[in-house]
Amino acid sequence: MNNENYVTRCAGCGKRPVQMSEYVDRTLAEPDRYKSPRDVVELDEGTYDPNTKLFLCTDCYIKAGTPLNADLIPTYRKVRAVMGAWTEDPEYPEEAQEGCGSNEAG
Ligand SMILES: [Zn+2]
Repeated sequence: MNNENYVTRCAGCGKRPVQMSEYVDRTLAEPDRYKSPRDVVELDEGTYDPNTKLFLCTDCYIKAGTPLNADLIPTYRKVRAVMGAWTEDPEYPEEAQEGCGSNEAG
C-alpha cells in the first residue's frame, strides 16, 4: 500500500491533528516529546492506524461508541478507499462535527 502521501486525519470529522486543541495542547505541554500535533497522534493516540494514517479524535471516538481497534481498521480502509490520500483541506465549521458518526451503507 502506498500511503506516503496520505494526510493524517480523524476518520470521523476529517480534521487534522493540528486543527484540534486536544493535540495542539499536548504538543505545547510536552515540546520535548512532540514536535507537532501529528506526533501526539502517531505516538500516543490509541486509535491511530499507521497503515491508513487515520485515527478517531476523542469526540468521534465517543460518538462512534468507543469501538475496538479491530473494528476501526476495516472502517479506516473503507474511508481511504473512498477518500484516497485526502489531501484537500476544506473548512470544518463547528456544526460539521454533527456528521461524525455517519456510516457508509454496504
Ligand atoms: Zn473527529
